[in-house]
Amino acid sequence: MNETVKCLIVGSGPAGYTAAIYAGRANLCPVLYEGIQPGGQLTTTTHIENFPGYPGGVDGTQMMADLRKQAQEAGADIRVGAIVKADLNKLPYTLTVDGGHTLAAETVIIATGATAKYLGLPDEQKYAGMGVSACATCDGFFYRKKVVAVVGGGDTACEDAAYLSGLASKVYLVVRKPYLRASKIMQERVQNIANIEILFEHNAEGLTGENGVEGVKLVKRLGEADETHYVLPIDGFFLAIGHKPNSDLFRDYLDTDEAGYFITADGSPRTKLPGVFVAGDVADPTYRQAITAAGSGCKAAIEAERYLVMKG
Ligand code: NDP
Repeated sequence: MNETVKCLIVGSGPAGYTAAIYAGRANLCPVLYEGIQPGGQLTTTTHIENFPGYPGGVDGTQMMADLRKQAQEAGADIRVGAIVKADLNKLPYTLTVDGGHTLAAETVIIATGATAKYLGLPDEQKYAGMGVSACATCDGFFYRKKVVAVVGGGDTACEDAAYLSGLASKVYLVVRKPYLRASKIMQERVQNIANIEILFEHNAEGLTGENGVEGVKLVKRLGEADETHYVLPIDGFFLAIGHKPNSDLFRDYLDTDEAGYFITADGSPRTKLPGVFVAGDVADPTYRQAITAAGSGCKAAIEAERYLVMKG
């Protein structure tokens, strides 16, 4: 074992950094490993206007840099690197960093986030930050009175389409099947909103545009005799085909739902293992907001501090 730490935080989104601020101020000398995407999902959005305290909004990367600095000021030791192995069989827990460094941790806060799924089209990369988004709540505001497409037929897609319909002039819901998978209530909701048009049996196969998204290349009834290809003019392309929680490393030890989100009793950060806490999107299939992640990071650090006090 290379090192023993009181509090190890895994992940550097708003949940991880907030946990680090609280754990640092509680003298837990937290060590935080940033993971493969330092700053987390927020660094992939352009401008954040829904985080309280930033009138006029804030650049996502800047906000995460501020949170990181604040965590360091609070005494957190923030390190580049990803945890690649976890042994939670016994206390202290053993975690291994890429490169082989091992840590014995008295408490572990898992804040590894979730990753939005993309279709895998090269154009999603090409137009990243230029009309492609996987977060309607984050980026919808930029499409006021514009035309957008939302891909997906589940609850998230319906919720996003309904949200965007209040901002955009027109929302196309691009659904690959001839029906929606979403709950009945969400289906009815989108069907009753005048500026939402559902395009059943449609797949997106690419995007067009000179300086940003100007259209989506669609294929209707893929593989059928009447298969049709056409370009639909849009300004924004939203993915809502699900998220993948980054819980794989810990799934052998902790309870998760079918999709891999951690499940905790009464939704608190406490898990069934003493001293192991979860925070942020990896334990939240429902809200997935920066502010809710930050709040849960705070709770996890408070729980870790109380746990260590009780343990003596
Ligand atoms: P889901 O997995 O439920 O739905 C994903 C949707 O995306 C499906 O319609 C699926 O199509 C479609 N899809 C997946 N891959 C592709 C692809 N490659 N091309 C085109 N379409 C694709 O994910 P959600 O994020 O919607 O929901 C996750 C969970 O969270 C669910 O349990 C949901 O009920 C819950 N949730 C609840 C909410 C609420 O209660 N307010 C809000 C949001 C989510 P297909 O149907 O053909 O597989």
